[in-house]
Amino acid sequence: MEKKRVLITGAAGFLGSHLCDRFIREGFDVVGMDNLVTGDLRNIEHLFKLEEFEFYHHDVSKFIHVPGRIDFILHFASPASPIDYLKIPIQTLKVGALGTHNCLGLAKSKRARILVASTSEVYGDPLVHPQSEEYWGNVNPVGPRGVYDEAKRFMESITMAYHTFHGLETRIVRIFNTYGPRMRLNDGRALPAFIGQALRGEDLTVFGDGSQTRSFCYVDDLVEGIYRLLHSDYSHPVNIGNPVEISLLEFAQEIISLTGTDRKIIFKPLPVDDPKQRKPDISKAKALLGWEPRVDRAKGLRLTYDYFRSLPREDLYLQPKEFNSTR
Ligand code: NAD
Repeated sequence: MEKKRVLITGAAGFLGSHLCDRFIREGFDVVGMDNLVTGDLRNIEHLFKLEEFEFYHHDVSKFIHVPGRIDFILHFASPASPIDYLKIPIQTLKVGALGTHNCLGLAKSKRARILVASTSEVYGDPLVHPQSEEYWGNVNPVGPRGVYDEAKRFMESITMAYHTFHGLETRIVRIFNTYGPRMRLNDGRALPAFIGQALRGEDLTVFGDGSQTRSFCYVDDLVEGIYRLLHSDYSHPVNIGNPVEISLLEFAQEIISLTGTDRKIIFKPLPVDDPKQRKPDISKAKALLGWEPRVDRAKGLRLTYDYFRSLPREDLYLQPKEFNSTR
């Protein structure tokens, strides 16, 4: 059988790098693309020696040229953590809007199928719980998080327009909080923040009173869901995430027992527009893809903790990323 070739944008990031691994394992030729704004080449350095892998250091908000055939595109490039996108709001809007447009144009010219990475943030601070794909969301377009949420909402819109108007084969995944090895310790999200604090021997910071809930999906489960969605024939958005919900306070307590730290939990004010609850309704993914998460939190956290512990000690003290350009 002829080898398929897939372009993965955001390839040097947390999720993109795991997708590269999976598609290589499945026998694809993989073209990774990334401008390294939030990504890290260490995530994919093990792939550079492979014949099946090539890498373009490129900003997808600019015109994309890749010679040769492409069968699939996975568009994952975008700053993804509030600590990043609040510092580079315009780049975030551009990669969701112009970057997606460029990827769709490329998919059209190559007759490729494209899957775009949307997010549970399209539901904003949800008034419906759990969130099913039919819920339209509660987003503040001019709040600080609007740059990310609205970019992703536009991404979904333009993707659907290319599907209906140009007949492009499109897939939209709405990803809920995902965790695992290759997350950045300094990306500001709860899990790496807690583990980083525990490893440095600091108290764990919980924002608000810790009653806000999240549900965390292990990265291998997410990748499986994406792989199945790509190969399905369903072009409307599909939630992929783990519906097991936990309060941030309980979560901090779990990290304390996992790491064996003797430090305590301290509380700080809640950031603006921080969603109070988040839990995917995954009935659609179950029915359409036969997918549901398999890795429980105890196992996923153990694997993630082992990864963070294996990093060079100086990584524990990296400050949040600074960016030279805000354009
Ligand atoms: P990440 O920051 O680790 O990876 C994003 C990658 O995109 C980075 O390598 C970055 O350098 C690259 N990138 C950003 N702008 C770019 C541009 N203009 N051109 C080329 N490359 C660019 O984040 P992640 O957690 O791996 O997220 C990947 C995708 O999944 C994002 O689109 C994000 O919105 C989506 N997502 C992630 C989660 C999650 O829990 N991790 C949840 C919902 C959605």
